[in-house]
Amino acid sequence: MKTKGAKKTKVNIVTLGCSKNLVDSEVLLTQLRGNGIDTMHESKKDDSNIVVINTCGFIDNAKQESIDTILRYVDAKEEGVVEKVYVTGCLSERYKDDLQKEIPDVDAWFGTRDLSRLLKQLNANYKHELVGERILTNPSHFAYLKISEGCDRPCSFCAIPIMRGKHVSKPMEELVLEAKNLAKKGTKELLLIAQDSTYYGLDIYKKRNLAELLQRLSDVEGIDWIRLHYAFPAGFPTDVLDVMAERANICKYLDIPLQHGSTELLKIMRRGITREKTEELLALIRAKVPGIAIRTTLIAGHPGESEAEFAEMMQFVETSRFDRLGVFPYSHEDNTHSYSLNDNVPDEVKQERVDQLMELQQGISLELNQQKIGKTFKVLIDRKEGGNFYGRTEFDSPEVDNEVILDAKQNYLRVGDFVMAKITGASEFDLIAEPVQH
Ligand code: SF4
Repeated sequence: MKTKGAKKTKVNIVTLGCSKNLVDSEVLLTQLRGNGIDTMHESKKDDSNIVVINTCGFIDNAKQESIDTILRYVDAKEEGVVEKVYVTGCLSERYKDDLQKEIPDVDAWFGTRDLSRLLKQLNANYKHELVGERILTNPSHFAYLKISEGCDRPCSFCAIPIMRGKHVSKPMEELVLEAKNLAKKGTKELLLIAQDSTYYGLDIYKKRNLAELLQRLSDVEGIDWIRLHYAFPAGFPTDVLDVMAERANICKYLDIPLQHGSTELLKIMRRGITREKTEELLALIRAKVPGIAIRTTLIAGHPGESEAEFAEMMQFVETSRFDRLGVFPYSHEDNTHSYSLNDNVPDEVKQERVDQLMELQQGISLELNQQKIGKTFKVLIDRKEGGNFYGRTEFDSPEVDNEVILDAKQNYLRVGDFVMAKITGASEFDLIAEPVQH
């Protein structure tokens, strides 16, 4: 394939959206290199003649970012900088038919389960021998492990099942092999991700099998931290908590999106759980795994959310004292159940409610962080930036949670190493520390 200035075939993969999309891009990267095709991820150089954009179609902002990225590369194609533009991922899965008409300069569109067809388009074949292998695109001391694809839940506001399909668990043997291969390459922290990680096994093992999977992964040599994300509250498999409590290399950390704090809204959202049952579960989690850090996400401004129900959610956040909290304004997503409801909360009110919740959480987070001053924690060093090292305790996930800041002028540390560090200062979302030993 010759373009102006004759470029050797080189593929650049661009990833948008969540960590699950990132894993898909890493699998594509691994398969293409496995076929001997020169492939980069997020290359800033203009030396690729083929671009594959792995899009996100979750909510409005994410969709807009995906479309802007596609248009940017279509422009680059017009300027002869790239030869082919291919689009895959959630936005493509969801709106392929419309987008094909609206952006005809894209050479081909692929869905979220179209890897083989995409590989064919790139003159590559799917290599089964690479199952369990993955080239990482983030620092190799931590890696996302996607334990399943899709979701069977009926949450009223969510378009993910439309884009990712039904829940499919990955066989345990494949996941253990993947973990072993990652550990061999220096990965020390595994982040378990899915749409609903607590649903693991119900399809292929006919039972909730996350606890056994955690045990098997915990037995993998070289893995120091295993972190559980995207748990679902209704039907939560409590045997997971027993494994968390007994295994030192499973982080005392749980990401469990709860979405709201009012029983009435939880019903409208079709979450299958009440405020009372949610609080019982939170109490059980904290009783069974003392000191656990709980991360959650909430949606403000869902259709039908009155001032009173929002006040209930504020009170829920106040009493639940989450360690980590993310809040999103409701996004009116077509083809979801909520789309048939009246989106009656004005956008500015949605945003005000998000801001009020985050302001409340800021105070809680500061108090919780100040309680850590004087204590010593095991910290994983993620990066060096400016005059500091940045790391995390087992209570913090990369990219979304708090960081531990250590002075790089005073200390010689290595990215990817663990260090015992004493907390000397705290802000709402960060801790200041100094190494005790390294
Ligand atoms: S569990 Fe998560 S991914 Fe599944 S429908 Fe509910 S919000 Fe969407």
